[in-house]
Amino acid sequence: YKYPKKYLIGGNWKCNGTKESVAKLVKTLNSAGPIPPWVEVVVGVPAIHIGDVLKTIRKDISVAAQDCSATGYGAFTGELAAPMLADFGVSWVILGHSERRTNQKESSELVATKTKAALDAGLSVMVCVGETLEEREAGKIDAVVLDDHMGALKGKFSDVEWAKIAIAYEPVWAIGTGKTASPEQAQDVHASIRGWLAANVSPAVAAATRIQYGGSMKGANAPGLLAKPDIDGGLIGGASLKAEFITGIAAAA
Ligand code: PGA
Repeated sequence: YKYPKKYLIGGNWKCNGTKESVAKLVKTLNSAGPIPPWVEVVVGVPAIHIGDVLKTIRKDISVAAQDCSATGYGAFTGELAAPMLADFGVSWVILGHSERRTNQKESSELVATKTKAALDAGLSVMVCVGETLEEREAGKIDAVVLDDHMGALKGKFSDVEWAKIAIAYEPVWAIGTGKTASPEQAQDVHASIRGWLAANVSPAVAAATRIQYGGSMKGANAPGLLAKPDIDGGLIGGASLKAEFITGIAAAA
């Protein structure tokens, strides 16, 4: 393998799963074969299923929440606080997914505040960034991904905190559409994100940060994407609900 760092393969189950289907999925993943030691695997589980999944999933898969509150314990009806997740044994949280940026109108500022709350609770964070097709066609990839989504993180975290942050580059036009970015298209943006980290955080953080690709990643296209020098993993939606998540994606890293 080509990194001192481990590849990071994240699953994002989104808002899917009955008690029965989740139990079945856990069984499928548990028996899907080995995860190479240079790969870290995390599954992003709907909050209500987290307790069951923590108890039943294989020990070499960690559990992420798909969001957390920007605030802590207290009078915040309906919220899920980062320290509460940590107390239950959750180790990661996915923040700033494009579906939340769109549907819940989450701003980059709010995503940065939630990231701080998660880090303070001891969680690791996958921060999602990415442009829409309209933004790409208007030549605004850097303005959206670097200046806005990454820009909100600038000056907020120490290098020690950055060690617990991964960046998931997820072009919105590739999410759930079956249209994957080509390895070259993804590599271009991943290289700019790493360049941004070197210029705005530190060269050491830029070298150490895992930058995941997300958007219709599956067994068939994972090897080509993961072979690129700046693609250090994936964030996988649809294909994370199948054995292929382990056998075709984690095993390809
Ligand atoms: P997809 O979703 O793999 O189904 O495109 C990726 C994501 O939204 O994280």
